[in-house]
Amino acid sequence: MAEPFVLPPLPFAEAALAPVISANTLSFHYGKHHKTYVDNLNKLVPGTEYEGMSLEEIVKATAGKVDKAGIFNNAAQVWNHTFYWNCLRKNGGGTPVGDLAGKINAAFGSYDNFKKEFANAAITQFGSGWAWLVADGDAVKVVKTANAEVPFVKGQRPLLTIDVWEHAYYLDYQNRRPDHVNAVIDKLLNWDFAAQNLARR
Ligand code: MN
Repeated sequence: MAEPFVLPPLPFAEAALAPVISANTLSFHYGKHHKTYVDNLNKLVPGTEYEGMSLEEIVKATAGKVDKAGIFNNAAQVWNHTFYWNCLRKNGGGTPVGDLAGKINAAFGSYDNFKKEFANAAITQFGSGWAWLVADGDAVKVVKTANAEVPFVKGQRPLLTIDVWEHAYYLDYQNRRPDHVNAVIDKLLNWDFAAQNLARR
């Protein structure tokens, strides 16, 4: 994905994730928020040293550069949202299997312990941000990031994420972020996508 960047199609219909995430929330989150990050990026990149670079290259090249925060924030949010949609599916949830299940049991002791830690990261991220399951070397771990920050700039490979910006849940849950987070984990997480990410090196 390089400039001009395009808004990738949602991998499901806007109503597919209801009632956990309503069509109304998806319409704004995808059609307005995600689209705006794409549109902003296409305005910011032309004429800069980042022209012609891939999205991931731009994120890595601008991370931590205060004078490039506008490009970083929009590029990272395009990446984060494209990744996030693939972390969700209708009738998702359940538990991981195979290699990923083994790594989760090794890191957390059990799926239930993992779930507690993942939910806690999502619920306690202060303000806007993301909770992630990442591969870090041979192990998996739960991390959280603020605003647009993404773990791959630190060498951690994202496996799954939950968006905890208020725009991800406020229309459906208002201030009840824990209810949203637990429902996403139990009913929407796409463990097949996480397993594909773990297998991709
Ligand atoms: Mn979002």
